[in-house]
Order: sequence, then C-alpha cells, then structure tokens
Amino acid sequence: MDLFKPLNIETNTKSSVIQSGEAEKVKCLIIGSGPAGYTAAIYAARANLFPVLYEGLQPGGQLTTTTEVDNYPGYPDGITGTVMMEDLKKQAQRFGTQVRFGIATSTDFSKRPFRVVIDDEKIIEAQVVIIATGATAKYLGLESEKKFMGSGVSACATCDGFFYRGQDVVVVGGGDTACEEATYLAGLCKKVYIIVRKDYLRASKAMQKRVFNTPNIEVLFGHQTKELVGNMVVEGIILFKNNGEEVKLDITGFFVAIGHQPNSEIFKPWIETNETGYIKTVPGTGKTNVPGVFACGDVQDPHYRQAVTAAGSGCMAAIDAERFLGEHGLT
Ligand code: NDP
Repeated sequence: MDLFKPLNIETNTKSSVIQSGEAEKVKCLIIGSGPAGYTAAIYAARANLFPVLYEGLQPGGQLTTTTEVDNYPGYPDGITGTVMMEDLKKQAQRFGTQVRFGIATSTDFSKRPFRVVIDDEKIIEAQVVIIATGATAKYLGLESEKKFMGSGVSACATCDGFFYRGQDVVVVGGGDTACEEATYLAGLCKKVYIIVRKDYLRASKAMQKRVFNTPNIEVLFGHQTKELVGNMVVEGIILFKNNGEEVKLDITGFFVAIGHQPNSEIFKPWIETNETGYIKTVPGTGKTNVPGVFACGDVQDPHYRQAVTAAGSGCMAAIDAERFLGEHGLT
C-alpha cells in the first residue's frame, strides 16, 4: 500500500493524492468530536446517514479543558465540559453513530467519494465529509501557565469569567479578542488589566474605544508576562516591561487572548480558508467550496466560538449533507 502523505502544506499543491489501498466505504464521515461534530452526528444518524465520527487528537474538543459550563442552554445547574461532551457522545451513539478513536492525517477531496486517511494508515471513502475539527487556543507557553490550567488560567472569558466575579484579573493580548474578553470581564470583575506587549492595540478602533471607556479596565502597554505565581491557584502575576523592570500584580484570573489556530491544515489543499486558516463556508450554511464537504464549529467560526453556536452549525452541516446526498440520489 502506497500511503504517502498526500498534502504538501508548504506549497499548498493538490498534486499528490492518496494512491491506493483497501478503503472502508461510508456514507457520512464526521471529523472532530466537539459540540459541532457530535451535533452533526446526532442529526446525521437520525437521518439514516450512518455516520462514522473520528474523535481526533482531543476527544470532546476544547470544552474538555474548561471546568464548569454555565452558558449552554438546558443545564440550569451548569455542567462540566467533560460530562457534557460525554452526554453528547452518548446521544450521538444512541442513534447509531460509530464513534472511533483516530486522527484524520490527510485528505483527497479531488473527487467523490472523498478519501480521508486516518492515523496515517486506514483509508475511509465517504460520500460526504463534515469537518468539525475546531480551533486551538494559543498560549504563551510558560511553565506556570500549564501548572495553573483550569485553576486560574483560561482562554475563554465567556466560559470561565463568572468564576472571577468581584476579583482582579488579567487579559493578555492586544487584538479584538483580548478587548472583547476584557470588556466582558469588566462587567463581572473588580478590575481587569490588559497586558499588551507593544505600545498600541491591534484591535479595531471601535473595540479600543469600548476598552478605554470602561473605567475598571487598565491597559498596560509594553508589558509581557514572566510567570504566574500561587500555590494551588493563581494568586499573582509577574510582568516585565520592555526595559527589563518587573512588576507584580495580585490577580486571580489569567485570560490568554492571543489568538486561535483553526485546525484546518490537512484540508487546505482542497478547502478554501481565510488568511488565518478559518474554513470559508457559504453564509448561512455549512457548505465549503467543495460540494459534499461541509464544515461546522470553530474551524469555520472566528467570531463566536461558543459551544452553542458550534452545536447549531453542526446541525446545519448535517442537514446540508443530508440534502446533498438526497440531491445526488445517495440517501
Ligand atoms: P489577533 O491575531 O488579532 O491578535 C492577537 C494579539 O495577541 C495581538 O495583540 C498580539 O500582539 C498578541 N500576541 C500574540 N502572541 C503573543 C505573545 N506571545 N505574547 C503577548 N502577546 C501576544 O487575534 P484575535 O484573536 O484578537 O483576533 C483574531 C481575528 O478575529 C482578528 O481578525 C479579529 O479582528 C477577529 N475578531 C473579531 C471580533 C469582532 O469583530 N467582534 C472579536 C474577536 C476577534 P502583537 O500585536 O504584538 O502581535
């Protein structure tokens, strides 16, 4: 079996394709297991598309890295991200979704059936593919950041801000996300510091205006994070200025907002993305530029990135996939 990597991400060529090998034929392949992937699976399974879902590198997706989820409708007492993902998985399985361990490692969307390689060895041939591979929040890469993950460190103010009510927190980053997160947190927290490494914000003027008009936000320009300090949870942060001078702040929450990386690399030779790698979908649908390949969730959403919006877009992608199969006489 000649199963070389078909994708040349560097040059974005479509020249090499998956060559040969016995393929498993499926009607609907779903790649990714966050709220988007599982919701797509629930709808696809109930529509008799017999979906096969590969969970990917982080089964359950980003929500499994947060603690309590309080903003997903239907859970009046909140729920942990891990339990919620387990519930979604069971719901998808209840209608017959085959949920499998495995990572999609390369794709050939040059013609239908589409070919996807799992774990560099197994080939799946699918009539439709639903991409739900999510996005990965970028972190600074500090040791203390890892140590306090979920105990003061977060990459999602909307998910975790509530736990820092009345406290002092830090947001790192100078883009629209950082400003949006800081403004959201300012409504909950006593004081919000924005740590910006340059001497200006990259965020849009409108977003900057909101920040500067919010009295309990203080922007610290020309500062970077050295380490977080604390015992079991974050109790403070040591910053350094560009002249080397150090500053310590007593804070309990550290929100990283330095961007997200959509997990779209293996699709790029075929699927159109924007300049930051988010898959482009036809507005109001899950359709990509390749008919029969759909995308949902954070991999195609630079704006909302919420579990509930991801789930909604998963539903849309599955309905679009079902209609596509119907139109091609494949249901
Ligand atoms: P951006 O890439 O726009 O900004 C990232 C910010 O993080 C920059 O200020 C950057 O600093 C800083 N940064 C990156 N790495 C580090 C580091 N190691 N240490 C310290 N700071 C760092 O990402 P966003 O997530 O803010 O936005 C992504 C896209 O989504 C943008 O196009 C944005 O406009 C859009 N967006 C739109 C929203 C809206 O319209 N409501 C809301 C949120 C996002 P530097 O400037 O020095 O490189």
